[in-house]
Order: sequence, then structure tokens, then C-alpha cells
Amino acid sequence: MDIGKLIKPEIRSLRAYEAEEIPCRVKLDANESPYGFKVLQSVMTNKYPDPEAKELRKLVAGDLKVKPENVLHGNGSDELISCLITTFGGPVLYPVPTFSMYGIISQSLGERTIEIPLDREFDLDRGAFKGKVKSRNPKLIFLSSPNNPTGNCFSESRIKKIIRQSQGLVIVDEAYQPFSSAKSFVPLITKYKNLVILRTLSKIGLAGLRVGFLIAHADIVHQVNKVRLPFNVNSLSQKVAIDALRNKKQIRSQIRLIISERNKLYKAMAGMDGAAPFPTDANFILFKVADADRVYCSLLKKGVLIRNMKGAVGGCLRVTVGTAGENALFLKALKQVL
Ligand code: PMP
Repeated sequence: MDIGKLIKPEIRSLRAYEAEEIPCRVKLDANESPYGFKVLQSVMTNKYPDPEAKELRKLVAGDLKVKPENVLHGNGSDELISCLITTFGGPVLYPVPTFSMYGIISQSLGERTIEIPLDREFDLDRGAFKGKVKSRNPKLIFLSSPNNPTGNCFSESRIKKIIRQSQGLVIVDEAYQPFSSAKSFVPLITKYKNLVILRTLSKIGLAGLRVGFLIAHADIVHQVNKVRLPFNVNSLSQKVAIDALRNKKQIRSQIRLIISERNKLYKAMAGMDGAAPFPTDANFILFKVADADRVYCSLLKKGVLIRNMKGAVGGCLRVTVGTAGENALFLKALKQVL
């Protein structure tokens, strides 16, 4: 039996998200936090989790100064991207390069995608967006700000213009917002009814829990909630996330540490012959080298795993900010390789 013949054509041509496990000493490839949380929890394993994650949503709503009915919980923000595309359909528009899941999920759900290259500063191309928003009328526009993998925030005024021009929803994915000095778009959900924000706990030390949030007008939350699987965030994750979010001091100090390490890392890389880092608002740095494949492989031979981005941005690699010790090992290895 040929399984390939049974598969939907859009899945046959799809390439899975790359999340290989490559053995290494220093893992700086996945934009995770180097700092975690100690977990000592007991949960009722025989009962289903709270399907509405009431306590967790209330806590997040309080932190973001919105109402619980403006918040929807997901098994990571990945799941919420999928729920949004399932609920509203396409065309789905996004700039490139950006987070690959917008395209992968759209394609797997059989929705049309529209990709617009970023401009030379990695910002949104005003003219191209205006044209495509008008001519193609996308149902959903995904804007990751700070953007993965480029690291920069898009200009606030350009994002606002796109929100105003669009007849569909504009999703500002703020996965890396905690590391940025730019203002969050969360307060604007009361002003713009077609604005949706995505947040995640994955970048602030809780990637293993798989918890993300969608923040939007209650009407949007109500609709997207219809396609969410009933018990999508498990009991242990809900409990640990609640505890971690109550411990604001620890979260804030870890974020401050990552930002300070990022700034040191950037400075050191900028001073190196043969590496050109791009300014960043995130917990990772995109940098250009003469031969991305060679540098990537040579670093791996030294036990340092980063991400090869040459497919998305010519000649570029992406390194996640680690602990001071991990960053020092990366810098030493990079210097030798270059
Ligand atoms: N959005 C962006 C921009 C990301 O980079 C990532 C993680 N790589 C996600 C969303 C998904 O995060 P989560 O772990 O919450 O699914």
C-alpha cells in the first residue's frame, strides 16, 4: 500500500518543522531560556485538567491588564496559531523571513499563503503590504515582533497602519516581547477590534510546559475557543505555570540577566573579524559570516549547537543567548572557527 497516495497533496509537499535533536555540549539553537524553575508539584492525575484554565487565565489577564475573557490558553502559542488559521482560514499573509510555523500550519490546513519579503532593514515593506492587503484581502496577517529569526521589532507605525488597512485580523506575535524595549501591543486590543496578540511562556524558562496565550477582543476569543481541544493544557503545566507567574521576581531577574548577557554577546561578536551581528530585541542574535555551512559545522564539531539560517537569510546563523559560561564557550569556539 502506498501511503503517499492517501495523503492530501498539501501535506505531501510539506516539509516538517525542523526540531532535530543533535548531541552537543552547549545548546544555543532553539531560543530557549538558559534558566528554568524548580518544580515540586502534586496534581490529581486521575482527573482531567481545568478545560478553561481559569486560574491561569485570570493571572495572565491581571499581569497584562486585560480581562480573563480576552485571554485564551494554548499548548504553546503554536497551537493557537493553528486554532486561528482553523477558525478564520486564509489567505494568510506574513513577511519573510519569519517564524516558519505560520506557513507550515497554513499549508497543512490547505490555506493559501502570501509571503512579502522584509525590506533591507528587516522592517515591513509598506508599499508591498498596502498593495497585497488591498488586492488579496487576507483573513489573517501574522507579524512576529520582535521577529524570529531577524531579532528586530517592526516599526510601530507600520504595524498600526497595517492594522488599520486590513479587513482581516492582524496577529502581533510577541513571543520575544519580554526582551524588547519596544511597547507591547496588548493595550491596543481595546482600540483595534481586529488585533490579536500571541504570548508564550516558552522563552522565559518554561518551554517544557508548552503554555501560550492569545489576547484579543472577547468576540475573537469566543470564536477561536470553539476549535480548541477541550483539555489542551495539562494539569501539571497549569499548576507550574501559575506558580512561576506568581514568582515575578524570579522571572524578571532572569529576563534582566538574559538582556544583559545578550548585550555583552552582541558587543563581543561585533568586535570579531568575520562575524556581523544584526541588532536584536530578542533572546537571540542573527549574524552573517562568509560561509555559514562551514562555521555551523565547525562549531558543532566543538560541541556548540546553533541554528543555520542560511535558507531563510543568506549567509546567516542564529545563536540563542545562554548563561555567561555558555556564551563564553560559544565566543571562544566562534573566534577559533573564524
Ligand atoms: N512565535 C514565535 C515567533 C516563535 O519563535 C516561537 C517559538 N520558536 C513560537 C511562536 C512558538 O512558541 P511556543 O513554544 O509557545 O509554541
